[in-house]
Amino acid sequence: MPRPKIDADECSACGICVDNCPNGVLDLNDEVAFITNEEACDACGTCAEECPMEAIEIEDE
Ligand code: SF4
Ligand code: SF4
Repeated sequence: MPRPKIDADECSACGICVDNCPNGVLDLNDEVAFITNEEACDACGTCAEECPMEAIEIEDE
């Protein structure tokens, strides 16, 4: 199952990935984006492409 991996050290909490995920997989707190609905990820890669910090990778597990 694909899984977005967020590097918390790189994430600036801009929220772009949350806004652009078509499946509502991601959410945001004051400091970092996090995965809230991993099962819904279809590995489209949009979050990784849109992240200005290159903080997301999509891993196949
Ligand atoms: S787009 Fe990147 S930097 Fe912005 S909240 Fe998402 S993971 Fe963090
Ligand atoms: S790969 Fe696509 S579906 Fe998965 S978290 Fe990123 S934007 Fe959402």
